[in-house]
Amino acid sequence: MSPARLLDGKATAAALRAEVQAEVARLRHAGLAPRLVVVLVGEDPASQVYVRNKDKAAQEAGFEVRTLRLPAAVTQAALEGEVRALNADPAVHGILVQLPLPKGLDEKGIVRLLDPRKDVDGLHPENVAALVLGTKGLFPCTPLGCVAILDRHDLPLEGRQVVVLGRSMLVGKPFAIMALERNATVTIAHSKTRDLAGVCRTADVLVAAVGRPRLVQGDWIRPGAVVLDVGINRLPDGKLCGDVDFEAARAVAGAITPVPGGIGPMTIALLLSNTALAAARTAGLEKDSLLVHERR
Ligand code: NAP
Repeated sequence: MSPARLLDGKATAAALRAEVQAEVARLRHAGLAPRLVVVLVGEDPASQVYVRNKDKAAQEAGFEVRTLRLPAAVTQAALEGEVRALNADPAVHGILVQLPLPKGLDEKGIVRLLDPRKDVDGLHPENVAALVLGTKGLFPCTPLGCVAILDRHDLPLEGRQVVVLGRSMLVGKPFAIMALERNATVTIAHSKTRDLAGVCRTADVLVAAVGRPRLVQGDWIRPGAVVLDVGINRLPDGKLCGDVDFEAARAVAGAITPVPGGIGPMTIALLLSNTALAAARTAGLEKDSLLVHERR
């Protein structure tokens, strides 16, 4: 069997980012300067890298961007005050609170406080409800990135047996709902699933979002299956790897995303498209979207 087709997240994300850039230019032409504020609390090194990448990508796409840096010792009340101020500021269209927050802060409380129309991470309960109900909202960037990379490689979900490994609110659950909306038959597996390998082998489309380096072995994959590896794990030698044993999986799968260079860049591209969408909606400038949100 020939090795799997490589689903290049970097190239796909670059194309999507160019489309978002054009959308930002359209909004600016209409007198709207779309603005994203990223809230970074504390000094977590991984969060710092993520925030730097998001800030840079947003600037390149033409957004106004500000990173609001707060010390790890910030109180819940002070952080809530900052979020309320951003909610109230009409010049701010997207607010992203980088998670996880340092210990002692109530993450769920902060997410609930966000104006759902500015919640570009799609985690506010109103947006979760919109996803489940199939109504308009803002939806989490990583699962949207998974749907987008499939769409842009003409890999359909309809009628497919989809197995989602992981049930987080950030990735697993929202992706499962999106796949269901696209008429897939969905199984969600997690740490209590019996015969994980056997469940994975049923998948036409396997999405791994567990955070366990190379958990998914080559012989867990049905020949010809599409494999999306969401995991980002740092190995002791400093290198990154996914949740899938890439080399073994590549020999069996029909198509596969690499780590790095797969779902990671897609996530950032979808953050940008969410921000453009949020801005357009507040100004009544939303158009028939070329982006994945409207094609559910
Ligand atoms: P999470 O909140 O820790 O959830 C992990 C899920 O995996 C849980 O549902 C857990 O099951 C399940 N799980 C853990 N160990 C397992 C095992 N041995 N067998 C089966 N299931 C297992 O993680 P997350 O936020 O969804 O992130 C998952 C991975 O994706 C991480 O590596 C993260 O860094 C990465 N990620 C990447 C991006 C990106 O842009 N590419 C974005 C977000 C996250 P239980 O529910 O039973 O505990």
